[in-house]
Amino acid sequence: MSFVIATTLDEALAALSAGARPVAGGSDLVVGARHGKAPLPADLVAIDRLDDLKCVEITDAGACIGALVNHHTIETHPVLSTVYAALADGSALVGSPSTRNVGTIGGNVMNASPAMDTGAPLVVLGAEVELQSVRGSRRVSVAELWTAPGRTSASSDELCVAVHIPAPTARTNSAYLRLEYRRAMEIAVVGAAASVTLADDGSVAGVRVALTAVAPTIIEVTGLGAGSIADVAAAAANAAAEQARPISDVRASDRYRRHTVGVMASRAVLAAARRASGESIAIPVNRALGIGAAS
Ligand SMILES: Cc1cc2nc3c(=O)[nH]c(=O)nc-3n(C[C@H](O)[C@H](O)[C@H](O)COP(=O)(O)OP(=O)(O)OC[C@H]3O[C@@H](n4cnc5c(N)ncnc54)[C@H](O)[C@@H]3O)c2cc1C
Repeated sequence: MSFVIATTLDEALAALSAGARPVAGGSDLVVGARHGKAPLPADLVAIDRLDDLKCVEITDAGACIGALVNHHTIETHPVLSTVYAALADGSALVGSPSTRNVGTIGGNVMNASPAMDTGAPLVVLGAEVELQSVRGSRRVSVAELWTAPGRTSASSDELCVAVHIPAPTARTNSAYLRLEYRRAMEIAVVGAAASVTLADDGSVAGVRVALTAVAPTIIEVTGLGAGSIADVAAAAANAAAEQARPISDVRASDRYRRHTVGVMASRAVLAAARRASGESIAIPVNRALGIGAAS
């Protein structure tokens, strides 16, 4: 049993290579262990002092978000909350103010829950994670990262050091919505993110939609095309309901999830289109549009 507090990336990578598991904010790993979900790993390396992984860099190519950037920083960041709005919508819904200050984007992504709130936004934004180990570094798209609930394609010695999101094209924006039973300390019953690019005539030239909590991993809806905003929103609702593979559990039945994820997909397309047209809708869009749990 060992516990290492890494102060440099090299120390962290060496500990991982020796078999330790990283802990960032601990809001999944430690809280899960306290609730009896899984015992704490025998060997842990705390990475929360790696200040180099706490930066957000915005360039013409896009956004580079360090793995230790927390949800509060994302929801309030002036560029992330406007240009990459779906991600900020997702981060703004995580847990409570204290959870958002402790929980990191790296932890959310690497925990690989099908109910994670940054997952569907990152899919529609075309994000990649940067994984580093003593053997080198590589980038993998988020869709290829998640393989099953709690499982990723990363090796156990790989640390997520950053999430990269390409800059959106002109007249493009995004939104993420979730169905929830209460406003705080809640996870998504279902959720949907959309990224919409508008043509000069105001119709949809391109759209991506991804779904939360309706399959073993976050899934992207396939087969969506261009058209009027209303037609694309309706097509997204149908395709989402058709392609969802939900389970029934204490939170909702599979039928309820299948129906409501279609509703969320349609609303996400409509909200993303409004933002893409230049309209400002506050973060998170759930609260701004009165969707989800009542106050
Ligand atoms: C009360 C409460 C409410 C919550 N509500 C929500 C919610 O509404 N929506 C939501 O999505 N989540 C929610 N969560 C889950 C959690 O807060 C988030 O997933 C958070 O982003 C996890 O980040 P962390 O830094 O705390 O991860 P940790 O707990 O430190 O780590 C999580 C997992 O990722 C691994 N890991 C962490 N960082 C890295 C890295 N850089 N590279 C490789 N592996 C890494 C760890 O080994 C572990 O397996 C909630 C948690 C609590 C306790």
